[in-house]
Amino acid sequence: ALVTVSNLAHKMSVKAADVIRHLLTLGVHASINENVDYDTATLVASEFGFEVESAEQSEQDLLPTVRLDRAEEMVSRPPVITVMGHVDHGKTSLLDAIRETHVIDQEAGGITQHIGAYKVKVPKGELVFLDTPGHEAFTAMRARGAQVTDFVVLVVAADDGVKDQTIEAINHSRAANVPIIVAVNKIDKPEADPEKVIRELSQHELIPESWGGDTLFAYVSAKFHQGIDEFLDLILLQAEMMELKARPDKRGIGAVIEARLDKGKGPVATVLVREGTLKLGDAFVAGIHYGKVRAMLDHEGKPVEEAGPATPVEVQGFAGVPEAGDVFLVVDEERIARQIGEHRQQKIREHEAAIVSPASVDELLARMQEQPVKEVNIIVKGDVQGSVEALKEALSGIPSQEVKVKIIHSGVGAVTESDVMLASASKALIIGFNVRPTPKAAQVAEQEKVDIRVYSIIYEAIENVRKAMEGMLAPIE
Ligand code: GDP
Repeated sequence: ALVTVSNLAHKMSVKAADVIRHLLTLGVHASINENVDYDTATLVASEFGFEVESAEQSEQDLLPTVRLDRAEEMVSRPPVITVMGHVDHGKTSLLDAIRETHVIDQEAGGITQHIGAYKVKVPKGELVFLDTPGHEAFTAMRARGAQVTDFVVLVVAADDGVKDQTIEAINHSRAANVPIIVAVNKIDKPEADPEKVIRELSQHELIPESWGGDTLFAYVSAKFHQGIDEFLDLILLQAEMMELKARPDKRGIGAVIEARLDKGKGPVATVLVREGTLKLGDAFVAGIHYGKVRAMLDHEGKPVEEAGPATPVEVQGFAGVPEAGDVFLVVDEERIARQIGEHRQQKIREHEAAIVSPASVDELLARMQEQPVKEVNIIVKGDVQGSVEALKEALSGIPSQEVKVKIIHSGVGAVTESDVMLASASKALIIGFNVRPTPKAAQVAEQEKVDIRVYSIIYEAIENVRKAMEGMLAPIE
């Protein structure tokens, strides 16, 4: 069965533009009056917390019944956590410390598998850690449509304090609206100065309760496994407050965390199930690929038959290698999975230029005309701190009634790949002042269709943004 975008939006009482935007992140380019297939509708509906129950096959009305998941069907699920922070502050060591103290069944002499995520059991509950530290992976996934992380753990070394990538991590987390828990690491070191870390973080509005704020802080030594249990308890406390829930008794929906081509097994991917339960034999689509679950392994390398909400599993049975961040969805039959996969590949070929173009000025304009945009996200990079600050201030001060400029990240130095991914995920425009993108950043920007504009005169930069906001900017050269 098919449903038009406008009907689907209407059934859920959400804006058609929001549905279109979600479709874009799935690689489906549909306008308001176009039809989407039943499974795509299911997927988009799930993003809004709705379930598409059944398709009525009457001639005039192909509307599926859309209903909200009922409260009594929802059960608590473990939180999913990404670890970020400056290089060498101990992200990997922290992930290893957690894994070593909590994952391996010591007596059984088990060997943990690196599948991109692992689940930890502590007396008070369970937690899931994504194994790829850093904001690049986090933001790259978000740019592809999967936001799987419930919190970010920000690792700051007590002997080094807040550094560039600490600030980047804060901005990437904020742009994704994900709460931050601070882990002050390396407290074993004689030169450790946790108070200095607190002081520096408070300038970025991360303030511990003891100082009158509401950010959770843990103090750990990843190297000597100190404070790890207290840290995990703290995360569970935060998770409890958020009342994270999912419905286990529906078709599995999740996200691809990582994927590779294995010599023996063929394409394999780690899927983090978000909703429902994934079972052996299920047919599925993931991005433009499809398949049937032939085998599933958990993070300890044990075969499993089912995976419920917030469970990472390595899945075999893909027809092709999907990409990290692809949304994973169980469908009724393999035949349908194949159809959707092929349909999406076809659509992508047809709309090569049009799909996922989050950040061209043209699109910002189009979106502004379509509905009042509340904020235009901008990333500012410059050659010196002074010019970055001046530009930020001037851009924030542009007067406008409907549109607000929001600087989601700024810094000194070239426009990097990480800036581009943040722009892609947050649909932001990048402004470089006396700096250029790195070759890699330029290449990624082209792929992700992110608009980078480079200026050497502040006034020109401001004028251009102002014009864009007024809808008068000439098309990009
Ligand atoms: P990452 O780049 O953030 O992943 O940092 P790593 O986990 O690779 O750690 C960088 C260095 O700091 C390594 O040499 C670690 O052994 C060391 N390190 C990490 N955590 C601690 C800690 O708690 N105490 C001490 N003394 N050293 C640590």
